[in-house]
Amino acid sequence: MTLERSLPDRAEVVIIGGGVMGASAAFHLAEAGVTDVVLLEADQLSCGSTSKSAGGVRLQFSDEINIALALRSMDAFERFGDRPGADIGLRQVGYLFLLTDPDDVTLFEQNTALQNSMGVPSRMVSAAEAGRLSTLANVDDVLAASVCMRDGHATPDAVVLGYATAARAMGVEILTRCPVTGIDVDAGEITGVRTERGTVSTSTVICVAGAWSPSIASMVGVSLPVQPVARPIWFTEPMPSRPEHLPMTIDFATGFYFHSEGPGLLFGMADPDQPAGFDAPMRHDWLEVVGDVVAHRAPALLEVGIAGGWHGFYETTPDHNALIGEAAAVSRFIYATGFSGHGFLLGPAVGEVLRDLVLGHTPAVDVSGFDVERFARETRPERNIV
Ligand SMILES: Cc1cc2nc3c(=O)[nH]c(=O)nc-3n(C[C@H](O)[C@H](O)[C@H](O)COP(=O)(O)OP(=O)(O)OC[C@H]3O[C@@H](n4cnc5c(N)ncnc54)[C@H](O)[C@@H]3O)c2cc1C
Repeated sequence: MTLERSLPDRAEVVIIGGGVMGASAAFHLAEAGVTDVVLLEADQLSCGSTSKSAGGVRLQFSDEINIALALRSMDAFERFGDRPGADIGLRQVGYLFLLTDPDDVTLFEQNTALQNSMGVPSRMVSAAEAGRLSTLANVDDVLAASVCMRDGHATPDAVVLGYATAARAMGVEILTRCPVTGIDVDAGEITGVRTERGTVSTSTVICVAGAWSPSIASMVGVSLPVQPVARPIWFTEPMPSRPEHLPMTIDFATGFYFHSEGPGLLFGMADPDQPAGFDAPMRHDWLEVVGDVVAHRAPALLEVGIAGGWHGFYETTPDHNALIGEAAAVSRFIYATGFSGHGFLLGPAVGEVLRDLVLGHTPAVDVSGFDVERFARETRPERNIV
């Protein structure tokens, strides 16, 4: 017997997607008194990219919108135990970017200056200091590194559960196994959301369906340039020789990264030639390529076996910056997607922004530069991507 909640006939706001963005939006709306909200998730909460994430949280970006959103999110992660009230396994062990290309050193020097001007305690360090901070890393060919000790990692599922539990307690309806199949629009106004379990009347939709957002947007005739790109992660067996303090360590040139996870390590590296698409095949011998990078950058990892791994989808945009805004042609179709590998860490602040867009308030962070129309105006690439 399954006890499934029934779909309400109507709601003030319908949120589509139960990842970190959906759960955060639900929480922030409910906290602001907007509790006539239904969150619809096709499968289970956090089953999309959020649960596949490496859980990294950082302030080190090149785009000031990302820095501002990341700062607000970090504040929220640090206080998550009080609001909404959950242990999210936050470990502020730092993020260390190892740089081997002189152009990257120049870029990170500029980024660090911008971050510092906005209150981020990041700094450039020598290769020797980088080696002392991350003792598993070989820094022989490292020119310099950038570090911020307020960065670190947390548990994505715990963040979703924390927000969703609090939102539910305040009256938000959360329906899982309830895929959205269509959105009704009349003269540019949303009138309802169709699902496999019926239709809910509403005038406001928040599209936070991650890599699946383009299919939701196409239901209202809106084009969101987001592509799913598969990314692998592995975790190791227990590593007795693992240092007690280990920052999230990133070899910026290759994208290889690792951090502590349980008694072992979590590591990942993306294939730069991975084609986009949910069904696009992944290179079967990619782990061998990763092994060569590991042998050079963090040879101690080769001493432990791989216990498992998975892959998830980056929801990638052409400039690796998010899409956040309200559709120009469809009133109150509000979207937040395309986080291109840094969506988990922006979840708290983007939930606040979505609340403000629903309420017609000016968000604390001006995200107008992230609207989907920007591609006709400018490109604003985020350069500090992993
Ligand atoms: C391997 C990997 C490592 C990553 N590492 C990091 C990291 O260290 N730090 C970081 O900040 N970010 C990281 N990310 C990115 C991060 O995971 C995402 O940006 C973020 O989780 C996006 O959250 P979301 O809520 O927008 O989307 P999702 O978590 O994908 O949620 C979208 C939800 O929408 C649902 N949905 C889809 N279609 C429908 C429908 N028709 N009806 C109803 N529901 C629907 C899906 O089932 C899904 O649950 C990583 C991603 C991957 C894949």
